[in-house]
Amino acid sequence: MKRMFFLIIVIVSVICMNNTTVAQTKEEGAEFKVQTEQFADLAILRYQIPGFENLTVKQKELAFYLYQAALSGRDIMYDQNYKHNLLIRKTLEAIVKTYSGDWNSEEFKKFMVYTKRFWFSSGLHHHYSSIKFVPECSNSFFKELVLQTPVKELPLKKNQTAQQLADFLSPVIFNAALDANRVNQSAGADVVAQSANNFYVGLTQIEVENFYAAKIDKNDIRPVSIGLNSQLVKKDGKIFEKVWKIGGMYSAAIEQIVFWLKKAVAVAENEQQKKVFSLLIKYYETGDLRKWDEYSIEWVKDTESIIDITNGFIETYGDPLNYKATFESVLSLKDIEASKRIDAISRQAQWFEDNSPIRDEHKKKDVKGISAKVITVIVESGDASPSTPIGINLPNATWIRKEHGSKSVNLGNIVHSYNLASSEAQLREFAYNDEEIELSKLYGNLSDDLHTDMHEVIGHASGQINEGVGTPRESLKNYASTIEEARADLVALYYILDDKLVEIGVVPSTDAGKAEYNKYIRSALVTQLQRLKPGENLEEAHMRNRHIIAKWAYERGKEENVIEKVVRDGKTYFVINDFKKLRTIFGELLREMQRISSEGDFKSAQALVENYGVFIDKDLHAEVLQRFEKLHIAPYRGFINPVLKPVYKGKQIVDVQVEYPEDFTGQMLQYGKDYGFLPFEN
Ligand code: ZN
Repeated sequence: MKRMFFLIIVIVSVICMNNTTVAQTKEEGAEFKVQTEQFADLAILRYQIPGFENLTVKQKELAFYLYQAALSGRDIMYDQNYKHNLLIRKTLEAIVKTYSGDWNSEEFKKFMVYTKRFWFSSGLHHHYSSIKFVPECSNSFFKELVLQTPVKELPLKKNQTAQQLADFLSPVIFNAALDANRVNQSAGADVVAQSANNFYVGLTQIEVENFYAAKIDKNDIRPVSIGLNSQLVKKDGKIFEKVWKIGGMYSAAIEQIVFWLKKAVAVAENEQQKKVFSLLIKYYETGDLRKWDEYSIEWVKDTESIIDITNGFIETYGDPLNYKATFESVLSLKDIEASKRIDAISRQAQWFEDNSPIRDEHKKKDVKGISAKVITVIVESGDASPSTPIGINLPNATWIRKEHGSKSVNLGNIVHSYNLASSEAQLREFAYNDEEIELSKLYGNLSDDLHTDMHEVIGHASGQINEGVGTPRESLKNYASTIEEARADLVALYYILDDKLVEIGVVPSTDAGKAEYNKYIRSALVTQLQRLKPGENLEEAHMRNRHIIAKWAYERGKEENVIEKVVRDGKTYFVINDFKKLRTIFGELLREMQRISSEGDFKSAQALVENYGVFIDKDLHAEVLQRFEKLHIAPYRGFINPVLKPVYKGKQIVDVQVEYPEDFTGQMLQYGKDYGFLPFEN
């Protein structure tokens, strides 16, 4: 069994924003409002699709069909996150649509904040921390809202009254202790029984592990991704899978996806793309994981098409055991000009592998076709929306990556929006001195891009697993994601200070690398703590991996004062005194991380994560929260998608126009109405 597609999420944690950012953009020649609103710990942004207008009519038509296929799967993610999410969402939406009371009352405003958070997270657990959040309005106010809503709008079961629905939902929504964590990874926890996701019903961790262990053939060098596309259920003592396919679980949504994919086949850009879509359709029709692999292989080979889409059960972060994948779709067009930078790096992949500080026996002798590009996102759905990754590297099946390579992309227009919305205030607050600020201003955007490129293109692609060890998911279990992300980050960090980058023309000077080092350490040890509430520890894989790297490097270089902790006017900074030495330390840790992955050394993975990646400095955390409080910056951001509107002449699409809505609530209600294909209880 291999890891599933795991989409790589690199958080640009240092970039942040003002309350409302209005930026000039070349594309429209007019002001384009990037940030539309901010609430709780979230900000809502918008992005544009430069280049869409230059597509041919046929490409636009193709894009429209794939756009529909992407959004058609949206409901699935809600249900995968938690069994009552669709019921709750339909209830919240019924209230929002029909509420005739005072929208400006404090209680209703609180209700709306909850509803928007719910949409943002595709459910009642925080999209990032996976911990349940509850409304700040009162339980009785919520019940009143349900009772005031016209009965025909409410998602009622047969013979159920509005009162009964309200009584049922009250504890589900308001009791923070009930199903408290979507993904519980705490040491000692039963990560299956104590996680509130909807991947397993009535099972314990041991039962799941045994069930799949019995299915895994360790001698199969091309294993399918067992368990990827199903819910595992124990009923009357029997354990069985409910497969997500046409005629199976989530059929109503999958039928819609397939409907649109079939239309896409007819207007595909070329034969290869046609083949890709056809295999994806077969997979959705049969649920056959071999088809998924066949599809993935052909998808990797399609490097010619301008329009591209990922669509499927892709992310396994939501399952602590990494078997089950959440639905996700990212539709894009290729940004040919911006792809030149990432291309230059990808062409040198073998050089980077050969010169890596990892042990020779862990190096890939022949780094296979890492195709890399910068894409312009057209729409995102499921696990990629509203919160989005900025880099993606797929497929995730290790053997496919080894034999056929992978596609690595940088989401150019998303990153561009982040940059437009970034605030200098945060940089000024957390950077140690003017030199650090200047470096960041000069190279910050470029070094962010480079880090993402290298993390995806030469990071995840590098290194090999020893024979007989199995995949990191099998050997490193719940620590696999964290170790893998750390490994990819370390490759990027190690090389971002290398003269090679100057030589191949992607940076003017290695000072860009220094900007990245400053940012990485600042983010890992200081600013990312903003995302945690008092008392919380690190849970999420990317946050953990950053903390491990920075803390390990800090302690390793302590004697030589490589990174110095400085407290000035009650504010804490981690200042890098020796960049070269820090690079060597990153190299050492990379070597160790690769060894852990290659050998499947669970004990070492556990020790690294538990010692460096879980616990934070409580005093520093309090200080960081206080410093952020004054800046009014939301730690998380997500996006309103553009809307594609076809223009018909008769039945023929003759053009597709793009609109950029500004209202997050409006878009969520529209999606609920247009793409609410699944019943509220599956
Ligand atoms: Zn990654």
